Amino acid sequence: MTNENQAPREVDIAIIGGGPAGLAAGLYAARALRTTVLFEGGVLGGQIATSDRVENYPGFPDGVGGFELAMAMHQQSEKFGMETVYARVTDLQVLEDGRFALRTDGGGDFIAKATLVTAGADPVKLGIPGEVELTGKGVSYCATCDAAFFKNMEVAVVGGGDAAVEEAVFTTRYASKVILIHRRDELRAQKVLQERAFAAENMEFLWDSVVEEIHGDVAKGQVEAITVRNVKTNEVTRMPMSAVFIFIGQTPNSNLLEGIVPMDAGKHACVNAWMETPVPGLFVAGDVRADAARQVVSSAGDGATAAIRADHYITDHF
Ligand SMILES: Cc1cc2nc3c(=O)[nH]c(=O)nc-3n(C[C@H](O)[C@H](O)[C@H](O)COP(=O)(O)OP(=O)(O)OC[C@H]3O[C@@H](n4cnc5c(N)ncnc54)[C@H](O)[C@@H]3O)c2cc1C
Repeated sequence: MTNENQAPREVDIAIIGGGPAGLAAGLYAARALRTTVLFEGGVLGGQIATSDRVENYPGFPDGVGGFELAMAMHQQSEKFGMETVYARVTDLQVLEDGRFALRTDGGGDFIAKATLVTAGADPVKLGIPGEVELTGKGVSYCATCDAAFFKNMEVAVVGGGDAAVEEAVFTTRYASKVILIHRRDELRAQKVLQERAFAAENMEFLWDSVVEEIHGDVAKGQVEAITVRNVKTNEVTRMPMSAVFIFIGQTPNSNLLEGIVPMDAGKHACVNAWMETPVPGLFVAGDVRADAARQVVSSAGDGATAAIRADHYITDHF
């Protein structure tokens, strides 16, 4: 319970978001002996905590559970002194003296010399029955991460933009058949990607179609079938399927930065190679930034870069 009249707590570095970017940033910031507070308003570990298995994070030749990896990262950061506040940051202001005022929904108010926004992104969901229950069990929003689990199986990819087509082509390396399901009769993706998709031997296209339900066994952790409706004929078909990869967009959690830093058309914050924004002392790292690879390893790298730079910034300015 926090007292509303309590003075804000002063810290060196505030980190907003406890996914791989924030946790790596916390490790570097705390290990540089800066007082470091990380705020997590949802699930500690971020998106990766929802992934069953991670096979492409270096150092784990047999893969590692997503949740297990997130908890290990958190333990390592706290070991060096990072403090975790389990609250959502609801307001971020730049003060006249260059520091940052952070307001949270239950964790109190803070003032930080530098702030790192590592708030990540949420994939846009289809919002259909079976999707939530089977996420991480055959329903995935990252083929780069999960396609290898479905070797020689039939899988569906939903969407028609760059991400869907690129990830569908990637998935053809593993799956026996990839069925790209798109609600229109042509793709929106760049021509070069379309050409690759049309050239792939084990790829089929289901046009004018939407997935209406995903069926599976939650206890066994597997997708078994999907229900698809043709939007022109209204014909409904149930198709056996081992996985469904959904790429219908991503929503970066960049609302705290609106009006403060420049953003791309998709509302990802624009930063330089040091993760710096035009606001001195304000850094953005991981999936919430523009031009990110959107992987655990790249997010962790971003977080480390931002923390190293934030440490230098504090030395130079305070
Ligand atoms: C199902 C799935 C499987 C994946 N598998 C892999 C894989 O195998 N390999 C791989 O490299 N990548 C994988 N990815 C991608 C990877 O998880 C992301 O690239 C990575 O998690 C991004 O890290 P991040 O720290 O930038 O953001 P996120 O992981 O999105 O974390 C951001 C965190 O910030 C918190 N937050 C947001 N706003 C606030 C706020 N205002 N206050 C406080 N907290 C806030 C959120 O609750 C969240 O915990 C997968 C993604 C998904 C969804």
